[in-house]
Amino acid sequence: AKSSGRGIAVFFDQEMDELARDRRALEHDLRHAITRNQLHLVFQPLVATAFGSVVGYEALLRWQHPERGEIPPDFFIPIAEEIGAIVSIGEWVLREACATAAGWPANISIAVNVSTVQFQVPSLPAIVRDALDSSGLDARRLELEVTETAFMRNRQIALKSLHEIRAMGVRIAMDDFGIGYSSLSNLKAFPFDKIKIDKSFVASISDDEASRSIVRAIVGLGRSFNMPIVAEGVETEAQRQMLLDEGCPQAQGYYFGRPAGDPFGDAARDRQVKS
Ligand code: C2E
Ligand code: CA
Ligand code: CA
Ligand code: CA
Repeated sequence: AKSSGRGIAVFFDQEMDELARDRRALEHDLRHAITRNQLHLVFQPLVATAFGSVVGYEALLRWQHPERGEIPPDFFIPIAEEIGAIVSIGEWVLREACATAAGWPANISIAVNVSTVQFQVPSLPAIVRDALDSSGLDARRLELEVTETAFMRNRQIALKSLHEIRAMGVRIAMDDFGIGYSSLSNLKAFPFDKIKIDKSFVASISDDEASRSIVRAIVGLGRSFNMPIVAEGVETEAQRQMLLDEGCPQAQGYYFGRPAGDPFGDAARDRQVKS
């Protein structure tokens, strides 16, 4: 029994070694993903809930790995945050998103996700400024999406950045609202321009009275703080109708459109010509 026990231990050791090696390889690849041109953005429409007309797009990051295929952001962004690579990746995303949106109609805005880790770096406002200047994008067409964890560490730096960025005319949305810890005090302490309700509430809004009550409460809260509420993860007409009834002016989700390539790029024009 003793020897087989040791056998299992050896097996686990090897397994752990392999996992650690795999993880290090992934981290290495991630650090080189920008220079190897493996990152690209896709864009998902944000619509006026009442009319379905597009008001903007959210940029979502994709990593095309040569051997592993497409790695989802929920998997690689936390790793990029841990190793600090998110700072340069996030800067790439900002520049790429602004440069792309600069070629869109002037009434269409672009939303960019900004990691909590980026909000801890004091140069974030300068990076945003530079992405706007070098692309020529009007600051009022840029919106940054940030989760409330950005304001849990180094509150002073995050708050200073928030004020500086808003002073440029860039809007800030609180992302994934409702699943965090200190939502209400953050709303009071930080000037956001809009709140995105987490898609977990939207998913169950049409068959769960509790979720509907939560959405209603968040909309009321947003109204009293003068922050419009956006719903994400809308997949059905029933959900759209309920969100409209509850007073969500904007919505986003597969029902309106999946994330896809540049909606005003050459490929999109080719698609239109064909259809
Ligand atoms: P998020 O910011 O909350 O983005 C919404 C996610 O929900 C996206 O997943 C989107 O594709 C997905 N989604 C949109 N509509 C629907 C729907 O109707 N149903 C369902 N089930 N899902 C829907 P995605 O693209 O896989 O991104 C996941 C997360 O990765 C994002 O969540 C965001 O937190 C992070 N992320 C993506 N791109 C970036 C980026 O450029 N920078 C940073 N820091 N984070 C990013
Ligand atoms: Ca987002
Ligand atoms: Ca979300
Ligand atoms: Ca998220």
